[in-house]
Amino acid sequence: MVSGYGKGGDLVAAREVFGRMPERNLVSWSAMVDACVRAGEFGEALRVFDRMMTERFRPDVVVLVSALKACAHLGAVERGRWVHGYLETESFGGRPANVLLETALVDMYCKCGCLEEAWRVFHGVQQGDVVLWNAMIGGLAMNGYGQRALELFRKMVHKGFMPNESTFIVVLCACTHTGRVDEGKEIFDSMQNYGIKPQREHYGCLADLLGRAGCVEEAEALLLDMPMEPQASQWGALMSSCQMHNDINVGERVGKRLIELEPDDGGRYVVLFNLYAINGRWEEARAIRQMMEERGAKKETGLSFIEWNGLVHEFMSGDTRHPQTRKIYALLEDIERRLQLIGYVKDTSQVIMDMDDEEDKGITISYHSERLALAFGILNIPQGIPIRIVKNLRVCRDCHVHSKLVSKIYQREIIVRDRHRFHVFCDGVCSCNDYW
Ligand SMILES: [Zn+2]
Ligand SMILES: [Zn+2]
Repeated sequence: MVSGYGKGGDLVAAREVFGRMPERNLVSWSAMVDACVRAGEFGEALRVFDRMMTERFRPDVVVLVSALKACAHLGAVERGRWVHGYLETESFGGRPANVLLETALVDMYCKCGCLEEAWRVFHGVQQGDVVLWNAMIGGLAMNGYGQRALELFRKMVHKGFMPNESTFIVVLCACTHTGRVDEGKEIFDSMQNYGIKPQREHYGCLADLLGRAGCVEEAEALLLDMPMEPQASQWGALMSSCQMHNDINVGERVGKRLIELEPDDGGRYVVLFNLYAINGRWEEARAIRQMMEERGAKKETGLSFIEWNGLVHEFMSGDTRHPQTRKIYALLEDIERRLQLIGYVKDTSQVIMDMDDEEDKGITISYHSERLALAFGILNIPQGIPIRIVKNLRVCRDCHVHSKLVSKIYQREIIVRDRHRFHVFCDGVCSCNDYW
C-alpha cells in the first residue's frame, strides 16, 4: 500500500500507512523512501533512509538508487559520497557492479557539480548502457561543457550504442547551453537517421536553443508549427529568451498565452509585467498586475539548499528562520559595503514587480535565497572547500553578478545549480560565460 500510494503521488496516505505498520521490512522502508522521492520531498527521503540504516536494514539496489536521487536533487554530495563509499566497502565487493547504481552515482555527482568523480565512476563501468551514457552526456552539458558533451555523444555512437529519445534531449541541451544553433539544428534533423521521431520535448529543446541565441521569432514559429500542442514549459522557456533579449513583440504574445495556460501561476504574470515595465508600457503593466491580484495568483517561492556537516540547510528569500540568521544578515551587509567600494550597482530590472520604489527593490534583492545560503557557506565552510548551493528557480541577473564578485573578493569557489544548469563562480567569472 505504501508503494501504491507513493507511485500515485499520495505521500500523505503513504506516510500514514507506513506510520501504522507494526513491523517494517526492507520492502516497506524502500517503498517509503521512493514515495518521498516521487513527491519531491528529498530531505524527508534521506531522513527515512537514515532511520532505515539505524535500524540495521541492509539496503538493496532499489533503495540506494532512490537515496542517490534524493542526494542529486538536494545537491547533497557529502551524503552521496557516503552512499558511494558504502557501496564500495559493504555490499558489492569493491565496486558497485550494477549499472542502475552506477548510473545513479554518475547522475548524482554530475548534479552536484563534481564532474571528476562522475568521470571516475563512468570510466570504471564495465558494462554500460545508453542510460548511463545519457547521464554522463547530460551531466557535461549541464555543467557547461557543451563541446565535451557532443564529443562524448559521438564516441557513444561510434562504440555502437543506439541513441534513444533521451539522448537527443541531453545532446540538444548541450547545444543550448553553449549557443550552438547550427549544430543543434543538424542534430535535430539527424534524429530520423536513428529511427526516432522528434517528440514535444525535442521541439522544445530546439526552440529553446533558437530563443536563447536571439532567434525568438523563429523559435515561436517552430512551437506553433510543431505537430503536437506545445506546453506551458516550452512557452515559458521562450518567454525567458524574450526577456533575455528584451523582445517585446514576441514576448507579449507568448506572455499572454502563458497566462491563459496557467492562470494560477503568479510567475507567468510577473515576467510579462516586467517586460512591459522595462519597455515603459506602464498602462499594460498595471493591467497585468491587477489581473494577477484579482485572480489571486501566487509566485513560486525561491528556495536554496546548502549542505554542511551532513545537514541540508534550506533558505527562502528573506528567510529569518535559520539559527545563524543574525550572523548571515550581518555578513550580507558587510559584503554589500565591500562590493559598493568596487563600484557594484544593483541590477533590479528583474524584480520590478516585487516593490514599488528603488530602495525597497534593493532590499528585497539582497535577500534572495541563494545569497542567504552563500553567506551561510562563507561563514561555515572553510576556505579551500567549494561552496555548493542548489536553487529551485533560475538565478537572477543581479545575484549572478553578486556571486561572481564574491568569488573574487573572498577567493571562494561557488557552485550554484539552478533550475536549468550549473554556474561555477571562480575568481570573478562564471563557467556559463553569462549565458544561461
Ligand atoms: Zn537573485
Ligand atoms: Zn553563470
